[in-house]
Amino acid sequence: MTSLDPRAPLVLDTRELGRRPGSQRDVELTVPAPADLGIEVLSVPEGSPVELDLRLEAVMEGVLVTGTAQAELVGECARCLEPIDDQIDVRFQELFVYDDVRHDDSDEELDDEASRLEGDLLDLEPLLRDAVVLALPFQPLCQDDCPGLCVECGARLADDPGHSHEEPIDPRWAGLQALKQDPQDSNPE
Ligand SMILES: [Zn+2]
Ligand SMILES: [Zn+2]
Repeated sequence: MTSLDPRAPLVLDTRELGRRPGSQRDVELTVPAPADLGIEVLSVPEGSPVELDLRLEAVMEGVLVTGTAQAELVGECARCLEPIDDQIDVRFQELFVYDDVRHDDSDEELDDEASRLEGDLLDLEPLLRDAVVLALPFQPLCQDDCPGLCVECGARLADDPGHSHEEPIDPRWAGLQALKQDPQDSNPE
């Protein structure tokens, strides 16, 4: 069992909230983004500011956390590889169960998968991570109708929509073909 570090930016101390059901506390904080917040092609840069706007509410079983997170996103377009610089704004809600509330057969809602407090501490990182990953597109695009890259020359078509090729693009290939067809002429002995 790992124990939470109270100094970690995404670990919250709920002591001030207390355990009286109905008690609420609003928390606004800015934390540095943890590593790997996102997916391979689109993510929040490590250490960049994540703005959290949270409401903590004591309920019978634990602490209900409702909130939003705003952060910068960087990545690259899945079609044309152009850098993407965007913002993400996600909402989340999670019940953190008090660690002295034990699972028993009569209470099926409190399964072993539930997020738990450790004493007065709760860890927002898994919650933030899930919310961000769920909000990201699998195939980020620089614009909805990005036409991608030219299959012949690799040019970015959004920059040059009218572009076409009538002849082979690379004269070296043309030269090589002539060489293969007529080796005698090109390479006399
Ligand atoms: Zn693109
Ligand atoms: Zn082209």
